[in-house]
Amino acid sequence: MHKISLGVFLVVPSSRPFLVLGTHNRKKGRELVDLLAPHGLEVRTLEDFPNALEVVEDGDSFAANAGLKAAQQSRHLGEWVLADDSGICVDALGGAPGVYSARFAGPDATDDDNNRRLLRDLANISAEKRTAHYVCQVALADPLGNIRAESRDVCGGRIRFEPAGSGGFGYDPLFELPEYHCTFGELGPHVKRVLSHRSRALRAILPQLLSFLHPHEATAT
Ligand code: IMP
Repeated sequence: MHKISLGVFLVVPSSRPFLVLGTHNRKKGRELVDLLAPHGLEVRTLEDFPNALEVVEDGDSFAANAGLKAAQQSRHLGEWVLADDSGICVDALGGAPGVYSARFAGPDATDDDNNRRLLRDLANISAEKRTAHYVCQVALADPLGNIRAESRDVCGGRIRFEPAGSGGFGYDPLFELPEYHCTFGELGPHVKRVLSHRSRALRAILPQLLSFLHPHEATAT
């Protein structure tokens, strides 16, 4: 008689915490995933959580809104949440649209609507006065809703007279990086991943992110 030994594999659930990206904006979420993936973080999006909150962004600053999104979503889901609040500030418009960037042309505005409104508002503004900067504020909240780390960074540029390129999202077809003479829409994801406000803000928060989520192996690269 042959004795057959059956190999039994136990699937042990990973005890590593994962990070939820607290945004409903898919294109922004994609950029955040691409920026975090090389650092070994297990990342989920709100699409993985059908019960995720629609946080009301009624703060009057990027910091206030990022904090609201991170704290409320993390308390609701009971998970670590990284939230990003970002936008574009145009000097000739006194810093507008700023925190209202997503709704510049109205509550249900599309990216195209917002870009058209921006071009209209800048119609009489000369090239040298069309300076602007993107802002990105990120906030990390623990599963109890406490903010544990924050960072903010900017990326300076200029608003074109016409859209160019189809990369990125939001105002990217209008936002020119002076050193490249191209918009983020034309430059594509590789350049944006290095130079953007979002990539800079994430690089700054990464050491803390890793120290909270992977405390036994943290050294950010
Ligand atoms: P939030 O989701 O409330 O943070 O709104 C962000 C809005 O700012 C977006 O809907 C865009 O209109 C604009 N925005 C933020 N980051 C970018 C970017 O990287 N490229 C283009 N537009 C951006």
